[in-house]
Amino acid sequence: MQGRPKGNLFVLSGPSGTGKGTLRKILFERVPGIEFSISCTTREPRDDEKDGVDYRFITEREFRARLDDGEFLEHAFVHGYYYGTLRSDVVRALESGRDIMLEIDVQGALQVRAAMPESRLIFVSPPSFEELEHRLRDRGTETEERLRVRLHNARLEMEQSCKYDHVIINDRADRAADELTRIVLAYRDADKRPGGASHETL
Ligand code: ADP
Ligand code: 5GP
Repeated sequence: MQGRPKGNLFVLSGPSGTGKGTLRKILFERVPGIEFSISCTTREPRDDEKDGVDYRFITEREFRARLDDGEFLEHAFVHGYYYGTLRSDVVRALESGRDIMLEIDVQGALQVRAAMPESRLIFVSPPSFEELEHRLRDRGTETEERLRVRLHNARLEMEQSCKYDHVIINDRADRAADELTRIVLAYRDADKRPGGASHETL
């Protein structure tokens, strides 16, 4: 018996401040039928962030309890905090035929690929480190100390970009969002063809 077609699992990574959230929001305005995986995190919310919308903000104690219960598809310690993706969110979306996008770090992305090899890994790169620092400073969400940690980690994350299926350079947001949209829609189209999608063919 043929089941309902499964959705695509997209993973979006890249250094903090590179523009992942910006591109994802533009994509979601354009492309229906894709949902955002709301991660759990132990970091505190920023002024414009809402619990249950941007993240599930939880204590370290709750994070550990969920980890012990095997609730996370992947998790990592990033820039001094714990972050994790709930397996149930991902399974629910895919089983009901909806696409889901995870916005997670490189460590998490590689865990997802190991667990679900059919996942599509997309890396968002800044045009330069100078521009990355400029964007992070301009966003105004980090203390100087946290900014230093994020910029240091950015170099380590950039070294892993070759492990991704696609690398998008976020020079201009509208152009980069076009590229992201094309990638997502191409996988959807390819799914409809016999043999399905492979990133080599896109
Ligand atoms: P991330 O989600 O990767 O941490 P954000 O989406 O929060 O990054 O973007 C970081 C900052 O850079 C934000 O202030 C955003 O408005 C800005 N930004 C994003 N993309 C661009 C771009 N292409 N050009 C200039 N600024 C950008
Ligand atoms: P921020 O604190 O700026 O929202 O996110 C910091 C970093 O943590 C970013 O690289 C972001 O992609 C990553 N991140 C967010 N959620 C998750 C998650 O559930 N798992 C992992 N591994 N990383 C995450």
